[in-house]
Amino acid sequence: MNLDWQICSRARLSRDARFDGKFFIGVLGSRVYCRPICPAPTAKEKNCRYFSSAAAAAEAGFRPCLRCRPECSPGTPAWLGTSNTVSRALRLIGESGLEDGGVEVLAERLGVGSRHLRRLFLQHLGATPSAVANTRRLQFAKKLIDETSLPMSHVAQASGFGCVRRFNAAIRETYHRTPTQIRRLAHQKNTSPGNQYLFRLRFRPPYQWESMLTFLAARATPGVEEVALGHYRRSISLNGTNGYFEVSLDEKRQGLSVHIQFDDSRALFLIIERIRRMFDLSADWQAIATRLRTDPALARRLEDVPGLRVPGCWNGFELATRAILGQQITVTGATALAGRIVSAFGQPFFATGGLTHLFPSPEILADANLSGVGLTNARSKTIGALARAVCDGRISFEGIAESDAFLTRLSEIPGVGPWTAQYVAMRALGEPDAFPSGDLGLLRALNLGSVRELERRSAAWRPWRAYAAMYLWNIASERSVSGGKAVLPKRQKSSVARAAAQQSASMVA
Ligand SMILES: [Zn+2]
Repeated sequence: MNLDWQICSRARLSRDARFDGKFFIGVLGSRVYCRPICPAPTAKEKNCRYFSSAAAAAEAGFRPCLRCRPECSPGTPAWLGTSNTVSRALRLIGESGLEDGGVEVLAERLGVGSRHLRRLFLQHLGATPSAVANTRRLQFAKKLIDETSLPMSHVAQASGFGCVRRFNAAIRETYHRTPTQIRRLAHQKNTSPGNQYLFRLRFRPPYQWESMLTFLAARATPGVEEVALGHYRRSISLNGTNGYFEVSLDEKRQGLSVHIQFDDSRALFLIIERIRRMFDLSADWQAIATRLRTDPALARRLEDVPGLRVPGCWNGFELATRAILGQQITVTGATALAGRIVSAFGQPFFATGGLTHLFPSPEILADANLSGVGLTNARSKTIGALARAVCDGRISFEGIAESDAFLTRLSEIPGVGPWTAQYVAMRALGEPDAFPSGDLGLLRALNLGSVRELERRSAAWRPWRAYAAMYLWNIASERSVSGGKAVLPKRQKSSVARAAAQQSASMVA
């Protein structure tokens, strides 16, 4: 484990929220473990032990604190710097628990031996993969007990315990209380109907909620997504069940408020996990800022707009389709096209406000005649080919263990170039180092004349180039709003424009 106890100690004593979820504190006397922000009186240093994950604290025999509720902390930082494998394993555990086959299968999917995977987990998180999966299951169960009025048998199922007896035993062992006693402690005033849930998801501050909304608003597919009055909402469909969710900022709690309407409570874990990824809640802002600050142009913007995140997506296929639509046209144009595809081919769905449809499935788009809604021949062929590849299993946006291999397969689709692939990597796979270097907006933001120059400069931003891209688009969009035009060196202007036309789209509407 690479925890620096002096940093941990300072963060603990100042209750520094930027460290929330990055480490946990076990207190020897009470045998309880806490978040750095715990409101309880601080323990003496000699009685504190530091752990890099909740699972490690649990493994060492500490119980989760009922006051600061470790299950509510933002996730383990999404990117553990040196260990790609651990980050990817965490992503896979997030998608399925460890339900489909345990550590052996997980290791195999990641292309490493299971002993090696255990060693990596112990090194970075201080706990084995199965302990991490167990802790996540328990944490989610605790969240459902505290924040919903679901019957306990549903809580057991939704958090992956299989049977109520196992669930009861695990909760009692961990919290020294029964599920019902815990629910009583939570003093809920939950009056929402049975299929509606309200959750609070924390982030490590700072978090630029306004910029996140602005980005999503410009790209919101009419009928499927909507941004209004500080809320983002969208229709969703999972395993044949339809519903929607709505997200807004919960300023008091340094988190997001998530309202979900969905009939199948067993899907809640996956829905929450996807929302966490979509809003990039596990990002470790400090690590990102430290690296990006080394570039003077980015440093200024980081100062002005701290806490930009990389917006993810709800559904990889939808995002990839949207990225193809966005090739070589403005964001506004692409959004309008997406809206037309939805009203022609999406399944009608009625929820709140402007949500009228579900985004069409790959099965529908595989055979759809897209030229009828105004797409160029080339674009409709590309989208059709993508949809067919998803239908026959050549491409799957779920359970991706190896991003490079996935992107290679994606790029084999005619019409999917490096820009589209990198954009999908950024937003659908959550790759923090993905970078669509051919993007005209990125070049403009830095007044650079060539893709090669940009690539050279971006080397210093690794492994956070996706965040750098968000900052550069932020710079470029402000310039276009204020009417200022980025000036490209004259002799390179046309070659940049040509390069951009071949492989990229300007994200600046
Ligand atoms: Zn606590």
